[in-house]
Amino acid sequence: MGVESTSCSKCGKILRYNAGLFGNYPQSDGLFSRLCSECANDRREEERHEERLKASKRRDAELEQDRNSRYEDSERRLEEDREEQRRRHEELEQQAEDAAYEAQNPGDYECPCCFFITLRSGASRCPKCQGSISGEYWNKIYEQEAVEEKIAQEKFQEWERLEPFRDAEEAREKWVTAKDEVATNWLLFTGIFLTGILVFGLYRLFYTIPASSAKTVGGIHCLSAAKRREPLESCPQQAASRMGH
Ligand SMILES: [Zn+2]
Ligand SMILES: [Zn+2]
Repeated sequence: MGVESTSCSKCGKILRYNAGLFGNYPQSDGLFSRLCSECANDRREEERHEERLKASKRRDAELEQDRNSRYEDSERRLEEDREEQRRRHEELEQQAEDAAYEAQNPGDYECPCCFFITLRSGASRCPKCQGSISGEYWNKIYEQEAVEEKIAQEKFQEWERLEPFRDAEEAREKWVTAKDEVATNWLLFTGIFLTGILVFGLYRLFYTIPASSAKTVGGIHCLSAAKRREPLESCPQQAASRMGH
């Protein structure tokens, strides 16, 4: 309980202190070093300063990040706006182009003079270039249309003819799928069944040894007698075989 002395690890001043149970130990500085009260105050002040510095750096970093993300947001919005404007501009251009084409080509058939699509079927004069259209021109077009019509008709008939085969193919695929499913289920069922038999067999082999030894002596009754661990005398077949000897 005596007064002990040590030196301040920072300024080297000799410290005296009560080393008893309720003594006033000086501030520790690491494991074995002590600090005088002035140096301890300095140390606390330094630590606080350090803490404030860290907090301010953290705040700065947060602000910087916030600024960056806001900048990125606005950049993205601007880019989106530009993209939207480009899209709308293209759409308007396309519409104008379509309208111009429609205006230049208001008909169903091409005029052989100006090559715009200006003619209605059978017209004798182009409304655009005023060129006259011969009956021969129309005959050629009608012939070609008839050929195209015939080809389309044949294609449709072929498609119709193959209808039942398509149905049959579909049905076959369905059947194959169903068959596979049944096979899988059977395999699963058989596997479980065989595993059950195997487990039961192993159980009989290893857990009913007394019964199997009784088997050499008698029949079914002896098996159950052995299983119940009754004396073999209680087995009538055993008794009968003994009497026979
Ligand atoms: Zn000191
Ligand atoms: Zn024309």
